[in-house]
Amino acid sequence: MLPCIRPDLAEFAAYSAHPAASLDPEPAIIDSLDTNECAYDLPEALKDKLAFAYQQAIASNRYPDGSHGALKAAIAIYVNESAALRDITAAHISVGNGSDELIRSLLIATCVGRSGAILVADPTFSMYGILATTLGIPVVHVPRDDNTFAVDVDAAQAAIQASEQPVRVVFMVHPNSPTANALTDTELAWLKQLPTDVLVVIDEAYFEFSQQTTVSEMLTRPNWVVTRTFSKAFRLAAHRVGYSIASPEVTQVLEKVRLPYNLPSLSYRAAQIALAHRQDLLAIITEVLGERDRLHTAMAQLPHFRLWPSDANFVYGRPAGDPAVLFQALRRLGTNVRHTGGGLRITIGTPAENQRTLDHLQQALQQTLTAAGPLGS
Ligand SMILES: *Cc1c(COP(=O)(O)O)cnc(C)c1O
Repeated sequence: MLPCIRPDLAEFAAYSAHPAASLDPEPAIIDSLDTNECAYDLPEALKDKLAFAYQQAIASNRYPDGSHGALKAAIAIYVNESAALRDITAAHISVGNGSDELIRSLLIATCVGRSGAILVADPTFSMYGILATTLGIPVVHVPRDDNTFAVDVDAAQAAIQASEQPVRVVFMVHPNSPTANALTDTELAWLKQLPTDVLVVIDEAYFEFSQQTTVSEMLTRPNWVVTRTFSKAFRLAAHRVGYSIASPEVTQVLEKVRLPYNLPSLSYRAAQIALAHRQDLLAIITEVLGERDRLHTAMAQLPHFRLWPSDANFVYGRPAGDPAVLFQALRRLGTNVRHTGGGLRITIGTPAENQRTLDHLQQALQQTLTAAGPLGS
């Protein structure tokens, strides 16, 4: 490693959502059910609108609108609608190049340049830990209950007290990824009593599926931030648009630390179009949830596979045997899922994909159980 590079980054692995090795033979159909996107592309009419906007209204030699004014105003209207509120304005919104950028901005705003750690409850979204590590910020890990995946709030409280560096941010996904459970009243009560020297970040990436939001908490709690994304229900993963909802005070700080022109003009326009057509786009949620429940009911019948309830557009389960073996068996059959947290996280896809998920899971469980003995362990 070059001496000018931080030695701790030498052994650090870059984020990779998809397994790198290719298969021989490659399955004829590969279902990408590992990153929780919506299974449907933007409708053609909206793609045409976006293409038209690119041709007519976007000057590619000019920088984008770096203030995000019109987009923030449209997001504020949607957030009010989604939380049955009227209080959210553009001053509460910051827009990022994916919500990943906002997570990094929050880390910069709280911990960089002074002592400070973050707290996460495992298993959870890996980007908090990855982004913190790249910035040299220590990560305090606390466990979840093995049966319910509820955060052990006593352990979390004790970890905050015992942390060598002050814990300045607690990150919670609502509902959690990969385990698909929404925050409970106990977890929310614990988060609400945290003092203002701890920033509470609620990642509502799956809000449109759960319809559970904590935005109203932010109005009375200056240390409360909600993040959301256009990458999941709004079908814009390719465009990298996320946003935060926080007090004007916190929002102003996020605006200070973000990169200028962080949102490309085409992505900006895509988010505006998606919001303008949100009723049409979000109508798909009913189908996704119906498919999820159908798949969940069928998967729950499978032997040697434990499945948890889901408040999101994915399900989480653990086999009696080695999840890595099951994961590979599914891959060979053409169903790509996420192997994480000691189990498998499976995105709800189209009805045809979900049927293949079910068939492949059944086959893969059979194969791995026969290979490894009746309990597969
Ligand atoms: C998918 C996801 C996001 C979205 O990240 P983007 O950078 O906006 O694409 C954020 N948080 C969680 C927990 C997610 O699963």
